[in-house]
This record gives sequence, structure tokens and C-alpha cells, in this order.
Amino acid sequence: MSHQPPLPTLSAADPEIANLVEAEARRQHDKIRMIASENYVSQAVLEATGTVLTNKYSEGYAGRRYYEGQQVIDQVENLTIDRAKAVFGVDHANVQPYSGSPANLAVYLALAKPGDTIMGMALPDGGHLTHGWTVSATGKWFNAVRYGVRKETGRVDFDQVRELAREHRPKLIFAGGTAIPRTIDFATFAEIAREVDAVLVADIAHIAGLVAGGAHPSPVGHAPIITTTTHKTLRGPRGAMIMTEAEHAKAIDKAVFPGLQGGPHNSTTAAIAVALGEAAGPDFRDYAHGVVANAKALADALLEHGFDLVSGGTDNHLILADLTSKEIGGKPAAQALDRAGIELNYNTVPFDPRKPFDPSGIRIGTAALTTRGLRPEHQPRIAEWIDRVVTATARGDESVIDTVAAEVGELLANFPMPGWVR
Ligand SMILES: *Cc1c(COP(=O)(O)O)cnc(C)c1O
Repeated sequence: MSHQPPLPTLSAADPEIANLVEAEARRQHDKIRMIASENYVSQAVLEATGTVLTNKYSEGYAGRRYYEGQQVIDQVENLTIDRAKAVFGVDHANVQPYSGSPANLAVYLALAKPGDTIMGMALPDGGHLTHGWTVSATGKWFNAVRYGVRKETGRVDFDQVRELAREHRPKLIFAGGTAIPRTIDFATFAEIAREVDAVLVADIAHIAGLVAGGAHPSPVGHAPIITTTTHKTLRGPRGAMIMTEAEHAKAIDKAVFPGLQGGPHNSTTAAIAVALGEAAGPDFRDYAHGVVANAKALADALLEHGFDLVSGGTDNHLILADLTSKEIGGKPAAQALDRAGIELNYNTVPFDPRKPFDPSGIRIGTAALTTRGLRPEHQPRIAEWIDRVVTATARGDESVIDTVAAEVGELLANFPMPGWVR
């Protein structure tokens, strides 16, 4: 069993690191990976991330770089941009942001000044740090106003969004987040933004692959600025993109470079192109719809086991379960599940009475297990495992953990993983 592509040179040159890479590949193979922001990239994406493109500096944009020797890199970046424009149907794409957080920072730099009012979803309700949460630079340098979800429904409270927007007149409104199990209503956000003369920013980091595959409505036509990571449901390398209407193209490009970053990571750019090439194909539509079908099947099965799901279920790749009724915190549950071969993360739930480092919930995603080839018929079994481990752990009983881990291993043995051959 070994890592793919093989690492013979690395193994000889630096066995310590090579062994750790092998160990991580094996770990990823042996677990049902259900962290909602993670995935398995294809062999082709994996290969593109490890090329000589990493040797090249290319500050600037195609045709106007600050270093010579861009004959090839310009083509790589232009191809990536063209693919992004085609997959998402946008006027303009910047593919240089190092990751999702710096992509969002570039939007602030382009369109706001320190002290300006901005609006985003509160972190405990499912927002992202960079949407103005307290501990983030975006919450310290801007006057951040935060909206949330309704307690009864677990869904965005648009009455509150509208009221806050009218009262505070933010420059930017962020729609999107990290723990939103339901369809994001970009049209209603756009209507509110228009009314108060704010720029709507759709941060589709989590759902980009679903949007590309037609399994979630697109923000195009509603949000003039769209930011996304490339490594979650979109199934590319760690990176990000900012897609805009023509009007904002120049300001965004200037904010990314020279405003915020130096040279782009060209291997990443190439790997994003590969991922976008995959996302443009017919198989990716099936993948995106498969992710949602798996999440719905899993949510139904969890409900049958008495789990309390925020919003009562899911429309996308993500489920948020409040474990209060199971009489266990999210953290001990997540830790026990990890030992049982089910990898997910503890998470706050809206109106969580517990602390962020010891919250009430767990977040569950189906993007990676769908890549692995698991289907809706496998989900009842996974729900049953989750219930067995959570229920036993709540009673202080650890005896089921090894049993479940063995059963998980047995199931996964039939589902190969890119990057690891047995
Ligand atoms: C993951 C995520 C980000 C940040 O991405 P990083 O690559 O981790 O910096 C930003 N916004 C949302 C909504 C996310 O889910």
C-alpha cells in the first residue's frame, strides 16, 4: 500500500516527512471523512499540485507581470480564468487568492475602508470568521453588524437582515457561511442589498461544487461579487477565486495584487484549472447531486435515531446536529467518533448555551464520502454507527468504538481513494 503518485525520491531524501505523508494517506483511506469542508481531490489534481510551476514567480497578471519568463505561466493562468468563467458563468475571475480568507480580505480592501460598516452572518449561527466576527481582523477593523437564524426554524431571519440593513446601511453584505444546512436565498439577499445600496458578496466556499454541478442555485445575477475556496465541494487544491461582474473586476484585481499578496502559487493555479475542467464535465453533475442525495439520506436516518438536526434536515452537503438531547457535548462525541473511524468536527449550534471550544453540536458533511463512491443506501448504516458511538459515549461506555472502527474499515475497503493504492 502506498501513496500515489509514488514518492521514491522523497522517501530517500527525507524519510521522516515521506513516512508522515504515507501515514496521512492511510488515515484518509481508513476513515469515513465527514468534515464538511474537506474532500478527496482526483489523481490529476494531486499531480498538478506537485510540479515545477512552483519554481516560478509571477507577480502581476497575464501580459503585465513584474518578472520575465511568463510565456507559459500566462497561459496557465488565462486557461484557469477561462474555465472559471465558463463553469460559473461570470464576467471576470481572479484565481490568485491564496485561500478563502485572503480572498475575502481582498473584497474588503477593494470596496470598503477601515471603520466602514459591513454585515455578515454571526459565526455561531453558521457564518465565517471573515464575515466580521469579533476575533477576525474583519471584525476589528470594520464596524461589523451580524445577522443570524430564527430559533424556531434554524433558517436565516430575513426580517432581521432587512431591519439591520436599513438601520446600519452597510457597504457590504456577506451571504454564505460554514454551517448552513439549507439553500441560500441569494435573490432575497440581493433585494435587501439593493434597497440599502450595499454590495452583496456571495461567499460560496462550501457550496461551490454544488453550484457548479447544478445542485444549488447560483448567486450569479444576484451577487456582483462571489468569493469561493476551491478545495471544498469544488474538489480542487487549497486555493480560492473571486468572481465578479465586469464593473468590479479592476478593483478586485488591484486588491489581490498588489494590495494584499505577492506572487501567485502557480502549481495551485494549474490544479484549480484541472479541478474546473473536471467540474465542467457531466460526471460532476452526478457528483454534486449525489452529495446532496447522500446528505438527505443521512439526515433522514439520523432523524430516525432521534437526532435533533438544526433546521430539521438539509438541502445541501451539510448536516448540523444538536446533541443536547443525546446528553453529550459535541467535542467528546466528535473525539469518540474519530476513534471509531468517523471523522467530523464539533460545532456550535445556533443559540448554543455552551462555549465554542465545547459546543453542543457536530457538523457532518457528505462531499468526501460521495467522492469515495458511497451512495444513499450506505447512509442508514453510517447513521446507525454514529448513533451507537454517541449513545454509548454519553453513558461512558467505550466498548463499541473498536467494533465500529472495524466495521467502517470493512465497508471502506471496497471504495478506493485517489492518492492511495492498496
Ligand atoms: C472555508 C471558508 C472560508 C475560508 O477559507 P480558508 O481557505 O480556510 O481561508 C471562507 N468563507 C467560508 C464561507 C468558508 O466556508
